[in-house]
Amino acid sequence: MSIIELAKQTIQNMQPYKPGKPIEELQRELNIEGPIIKLASNENPLGPSPLAVAAASQALNQVNFYPDGSGYLLKEKLAKKYAVDLNQITLGTGSDNLVNLIAQTFVKANDEVIICQYGFLAYLVATLGIEGQPILVNAKQWKTNLPAMLEAITPNTRVIYLANPNNPTGTWFTHAEFQQFIEQVPQHVIVVLDEAYHEYLADNPNYPNALSLLNSYENLCILRTFSKIYGLAGLRVGYAFSQAPLADLLNRVRLPFNVNSPALAAATAALDDIEHVKKSLQCNRQGMEYLETFLQEKNIEYIPSGANFITIDCKRNANEIYEALLRQGIIVRPLAANKMPQHLRISIGTSDQLQRLTTAITPLFN
Ligand SMILES: *Cc1c(COP(=O)(O)O)cnc(C)c1O
Repeated sequence: MSIIELAKQTIQNMQPYKPGKPIEELQRELNIEGPIIKLASNENPLGPSPLAVAAASQALNQVNFYPDGSGYLLKEKLAKKYAVDLNQITLGTGSDNLVNLIAQTFVKANDEVIICQYGFLAYLVATLGIEGQPILVNAKQWKTNLPAMLEAITPNTRVIYLANPNNPTGTWFTHAEFQQFIEQVPQHVIVVLDEAYHEYLADNPNYPNALSLLNSYENLCILRTFSKIYGLAGLRVGYAFSQAPLADLLNRVRLPFNVNSPALAAATAALDDIEHVKKSLQCNRQGMEYLETFLQEKNIEYIPSGANFITIDCKRNANEIYEALLRQGIIVRPLAANKMPQHLRISIGTSDQLQRLTTAITPLFN
């Protein structure tokens, strides 16, 4: 018997998650002159907050000690900022760790987990990894179809994973839509609202104020991350808001030192750098406007996005365009793994990066 056959059947059948191509990998593969730009993983193109970098560097001097396993200082700051109690927060090695913890906590083999057809792939990986049964619900014009998800609920449903805005489509639902949805979800189903891109829409009055619903729903879990607007993707810090009993459960499954000390220090400091968040938001708005105008002028179809990326329809196998851009040192994200083989996802970069992108893309669509 081969080692492959020893693995659980669901894992034998799985494909490994393919992240955005790292800059160094492209450098190794093609001998490219000039700087490579990566617009493939929705990272902050302005980099991390200098305050966060300074705090992480400081913390490096004491990495002989284990980190504070409770993450007290970071939780305290989050609790103040968002007016929740400390015992309503769970920290994760990125929010994808929390996606996993929720599956481990609530989903037994063959239990059903509801995911949007174009949902974030980590939900599928987390579900299959514990032999749960993913139930993919069709989207409606690329948008997460909340009423259809309600209809998909059975007595065997344990978790519903929702990203708002959704990745890779960028579509989002409103507060009214979400409220109407969660009111009808039975209590035996955990609703995971993944708000990785929360900060990009937070001042939109229609964007859900999910925290305001937290006290009413013991089965609601809101995920946030430092990987996107805070520019700390490489350090891996995410957090969950829930009522205390759900947080208590997640904390039992969580490994004790899942967030390292430089990461804790950087995240805590990043929360103070309001200026950096503001600048990042502004950069994203300008970039999004620029790119939308370009796409409209060139008659390239795209899915309107509330996040820091935009997904375009190539109207043919998108790999050709992906490869052609790679040869010019531009990394974007093909979406074949998401069952969107004609689409490419482009992260909003700086204006210089986007100008290079539009120049490179123009002849490919003529
Ligand atoms: C980027 C992203 C995350 C963030 O993952 P981390 O593990 O926190 O880096 C989570 N959910 C969605 C939908 C995302 O697009």
